Amino acid sequence: MSRLKIFQKGFNFSQDGPGNRLVYHLQGCNLRCPWCANPEGLAVTGGKEYEVEELIAECVSCAPMFFEGGGVTLTGGEVTLQPEGVKQLLSGLKVRGIHTAIETNGVAPVLKELLPMLDYLMMDIKHHDPEIHRRVTGLSNESLFANLPAILDWGGPIALRIPVIGGFNASEEDARAFGRLFQRLGLTGRSTVELLAYHEYGKDKYQTLGMTYQMGEEAKVSFQLIQAMEQILREAGMVVVRT
Ligand code: SF4
Repeated sequence: MSRLKIFQKGFNFSQDGPGNRLVYHLQGCNLRCPWCANPEGLAVTGGKEYEVEELIAECVSCAPMFFEGGGVTLTGGEVTLQPEGVKQLLSGLKVRGIHTAIETNGVAPVLKELLPMLDYLMMDIKHHDPEIHRRVTGLSNESLFANLPAILDWGGPIALRIPVIGGFNASEEDARAFGRLFQRLGLTGRSTVELLAYHEYGKDKYQTLGMTYQMGEEAKVSFQLIQAMEQILREAGMVVVRT
């Protein structure tokens, strides 16, 4: 069996999928979002290595804690960067009846191979324009849009998340563009969407790691703007949630 590199793990209630969940943060990301709150998880080197069997045993021993529909969530970094270990872990959990979820930026084509082992999919959609997405995060998200037909065929619950960042995607016009995109991709009626206002939780970590935090005051967004964007997305046919 494979090994997985993990930089953080712990329990979380409600924000990383349904119920109370054991959350593994996998090392390495294929994007470089300047607002990333987990800079320690970006490089593919680093993290602590675990045997997949060891993680399955840990999850089984934690099963009494998975109340209110909980289970195990794999997030990052980006889970699709360690696909073999992730497939082994997810299928090992599925056969033991443990609820599985991942949170992904959706960009890697290998995401489609994980779907049969999933009960719940959380996916970030950071921008409606692939070129702006590429310029700011390092990769286009056209491949995310290309993954959508397979995700819709899979048929499980989808929770989309938009990090709302001033100067990047934070306006009523952006909300309208997201709404049109979701309609075009067939996501209305098939997915919830949550707007996550920019925060600075990761800022101090950058200094500790000797990295430069590039975000300034202009990235902050008002609650009024979030409410207005939520309303526009509702009018476009999306179910808007807050966790
Ligand atoms: S996709 Fe997520 S983990 Fe990767 S750089 Fe962006 S915010 Fe950070």
